[in-house]
Formats: sequence, C-alpha cells, structure tokens
Amino acid sequence: MLTQGHDADDPSRSAAGRTYQVRTYGCQMNVHDSERLAGLLEAAGYRRAAEGADADVVVFNTCAVRENADNKLYGNISHLAPRKQSDPDMQIAVGGCLAQKDRENLLKKAPWVDVVFGTHNIGSLPALLERARHNREAQVEIAESLREFPSTLPAARESAYAAWVSISVGCNNTCTFCIVPALRGREVDRRPADILAEVRSLVDQGVLEVTLLGQNVNAYGVSFADEDVPRDRGAFAALLRSCGDIDGLERVRFTSPHPAEFTDDVIEAMAQTPNVCPALHMPLQSGSDRVLRAMRRSYRAEKYLGIIDRVRAAMPNAAITTDIIVGFPGETDADFEATLDVVRAARFSAAFTFQYSKRPGTPAAELDGQLPKEVVQERYLRLLEVQEQISWEENAALIGTQVELLVATGEGRKDASTARMSGRARDGRLVHFTPGDTEVRPGDVLTTTVTGAAPHHLIADAPVLDYRRTRAGDAHAAGQRPRTTGLGLPTVGRPVTVEPTGCGQ
Ligand code: SF4
Repeated sequence: MLTQGHDADDPSRSAAGRTYQVRTYGCQMNVHDSERLAGLLEAAGYRRAAEGADADVVVFNTCAVRENADNKLYGNISHLAPRKQSDPDMQIAVGGCLAQKDRENLLKKAPWVDVVFGTHNIGSLPALLERARHNREAQVEIAESLREFPSTLPAARESAYAAWVSISVGCNNTCTFCIVPALRGREVDRRPADILAEVRSLVDQGVLEVTLLGQNVNAYGVSFADEDVPRDRGAFAALLRSCGDIDGLERVRFTSPHPAEFTDDVIEAMAQTPNVCPALHMPLQSGSDRVLRAMRRSYRAEKYLGIIDRVRAAMPNAAITTDIIVGFPGETDADFEATLDVVRAARFSAAFTFQYSKRPGTPAAELDGQLPKEVVQERYLRLLEVQEQISWEENAALIGTQVELLVATGEGRKDASTARMSGRARDGRLVHFTPGDTEVRPGDVLTTTVTGAAPHHLIADAPVLDYRRTRAGDAHAAGQRPRTTGLGLPTVGRPVTVEPTGCGQ
C-alpha cells in the first residue's frame, strides 16, 4: 500500500453520525457497485446525506471507458477542493475503474483526496476512510485481483421493485477497444446456488424484477472460482430456467450477452420460461467482418443476424437492442455501409451508438488508421438517422396493443407537466401512461393500451385496463429499501436505466 500525507481530521471522530454521498459514473456494473458501497458505509455507521446537503464523505465511483472520462472526473473532484480546505473533516474517496488505472497518480493530480481504492477491493472502503482519518494520511489500496465476490458485501439498493444480481465479474475476452479486461480482470462466476438464494431473498422482500448482470453474462458457467462447482456451458440457460421456478418473480432480464457465445439453449430457455422477459440487448459493435476481426470479436455479421432470426422465431415480440461503435480505426465507407446493412436487417428497437474515441491503455488506441473526427461524426449521424426511423416504425407498430407495465419512478422528464407516469413494458420499452383516476404507485403493475409512439418511448393515454397493487408498491410507498446483511443476503434495488458504455460485449 502506498500513502501520502496531508492534513486530515480529528482521529477521535468515528463514522457514527457522519453522512455520505456516492457519485456514480459509467455502466450498470458501477451502479450496482455503488449500491454495495452505500451498504458498506451504512453498515459501518454512516448515513446517506439528504438530497442537496453537503456530505461528510463523498465517494466517486469512476469509469475509465470513455476517452475524456479522466478530465471530467478530475474536474469534478477539483470542485470539492475548496470545501475540503475549509472543512478538513470531510473526506473524499475515489474508487472504480479510473482509480484502478491511475492508482497513486491520482493523488498527484488531486492531493486533497483521502482514499483511493480499486475495483477488486471495494469492501476495504470503510477501513480505508477510518485509517485515513486516524493516520492523517491519504490511503491508496489497489488489489490486483478479486478478494471476495462483491455480492457477499452488504448493499443499500435504490428501490423496492427491481434489483441487479451479479452472476459474474470480469471478462476473458480481449476486444481491442475495451479497457474492462485490464481493469476488472478475468471472469469469475458466482455459484448458482448463491445467485438463486439472493434472487429468492429479494423476491421474499417484494422484488418483482431481477436483472442478471455480467460483463459477458452468457459465458457464465466456465469460470467458477470454486473447484467444487462443475464447469458447465449450459449453466446460463439452466440459471434462467431456475429463475422461472421462483414464485413471485415476475420479470427476469440479463445484460449483456456476447454474440460469439450465444447458444440456442439460451433462446429455448428464454422462450420456455414465462418470467424471462422477451428482451435481448446484444452488442453488435460493427456490421463489417473486417472491423469485427480488428476489434478481436470472434463472431461475424451473418452469425449475429442468425441469432436474431432464431430469437424472433422463438419469441416473435422480442425487443432487440444493441451497442454500435462508429469510426473504429481503419473503418472504410464500405465497412460502415456493412454496419448500416446489418442495422436495417436486424430492425433493432433501439441502439446505443458511440463514436469511437481512443481509450488509453487499449490496443485499438495504438492502431493505424485512426479516423478524422468529422468522418466519424458524419457516419454517426447517418447511423442515427437510419436507427431512429427503425425505432420509430417498430414502436408505431405497437399502437393499439395492450402492454403490461411495471410502474417506475422518475423515468419521464415531462411526466409532471403531462400528468403521465412511466413504466417499463415486459419487453423493456419505456411507456408514459395516463393513470386517470387510479392511484398508481411505483412498483405496482398495470395493463393499458398503447396510443402513441416516438423513437424512444411509447405513449398510453387510454384508460388503465387492469391495476394490481403489489408488495413492491407497498415497500416503495413506505420508503423501504431492504438491505443485505453482509452474508451474501441481498437487498432490494431498482436497476436505474443506464446507457450502456460501449464496453459491454
Ligand atoms: S467489450 Fe465486453 S466482451 Fe469485449 S473485452 Fe470488453 S467486457 Fe469483454
């Protein structure tokens, strides 16, 4: 461990009564890690700071995926420097991928930071804060590999009706644009029994929806850390089927699968397990085989489209979404046209599109043929235009159909002015609906009719046809946020809808 000194606070002060705030950047992994950071701090005696109030401890859970992530983050940390100067009792901790990457250099750039911790040792945060306070020295602790599966740590989740459940961490692939393998390490799979116990416990506490989470979720089964769990290529499909046996679990999602490892047993399990949602987010990244090769992604466009065909044959109403990177080094006009061809053929209901930018530390950053910004931008806009039209047409085709919604909180910017509320359909689409005279609570379930469509959402201004109050709705209304005990038992949380970062598969 490396330490650097600066004025710290009164060492006699303990965590009790101190408040914290966690600021999250990046992908779903980080959102879920932040729930664990909150759980750890609360277990240590900290309280969540009230909205808008200055916290005694500010934790930055960072992301290193985007090129300008560093600059933005250091900018945000520097905003706290004056506060730190006037209140030496407050503490600043920085964790996540950027901390794993920059390590002690982070303190050179931001010497007012108290604690730097990595992606493999988030469980150390309370001790590091305590040590920094006690020793009056900044603490840097970065572990090179995973110390404990993060789900064994306590978590304070964000809501009462839906939860992330990690099934694996890390990734064994080597996509040339991606920093994840360098920062998150090789894949480690969690035992099926532990995952199912967490899901059951969540459901016992009212949770209706779980999202199984992994960098490469369908590779699950070949990288168990425990010697006693047999390696099993069919483990992911089996896990989906086992989720189907859990009474009270209404919706199962997963993110993100890798096309190279997408097997037909997963499609069958999805189609045959009623609570698995008809939704698939499967990153394409490029429709050009030449570019896929340069990205070191081992599937080809034909294989990708074949998976989609088989998914649609088994689940005709499945909503399929993707991630696409435009302007990878060496991408020609013809390569880009090949991406457009796949996009037109696949008819994604939505696509998260990214302009390629160099990510320091990735092999692609060193490749020849980096494209001028204007070329990337022009292609990006063309792709956006094609995809927006498809998204709009796919959504418009749903006008007049009935949708079951899990009512969500805070998803629509215009909800206040239109008196609409928001929910997610089983296929993951965002729907803004009119509750009418029905008193509707987040976490409850209703059925309504789609009356309008836009590229990124549906409108349902028709009367509510069916409304069901749920235990999740009760818990939400009571402000309850279940939490873990630290023994691997889960807490409740709503997966915030987070834009994929472009590193996901
Ligand atoms: S893009 Fe996804 S599959 Fe590829 S290395 Fe990164 S995390 Fe792994």
